[in-house]
Amino acid sequence: MTLAGSSGGPVTVRSAWCKSCGICISVCPKNVLEFGHDGKATPARPQDCIQCEMCEMMCPDLAITVATRAKAAGAAKEGGSGGN
Ligand code: SF4
Ligand code: SF4
Repeated sequence: MTLAGSSGGPVTVRSAWCKSCGICISVCPKNVLEFGHDGKATPARPQDCIQCEMCEMMCPDLAITVATRAKAAGAAKEGGSGGN
């Protein structure tokens, strides 16, 4: 699995789509995300992620994907690779 961007645990940020607005950083209840050296959001503490999907829902640029068990089950059912 390769996605452009920083991935940590269940959280993947596609840095090419991130406009550094900081919304995900402020909505995350577990303080998982912060700005990386490139100024883009990055999962700095992925081990703290509770997969609440707040960051994914709130990102205006759809740059964040949170891999949840439900989604994995759905992807398996559809037979998709989950690449998109
Ligand atoms: S909410 Fe989306 S666009 Fe804004 S900083 Fe986070 S990942 Fe980047
Ligand atoms: S899924 Fe929830 S806990 Fe995990 S990084 Fe996103 S907002 Fe934070």
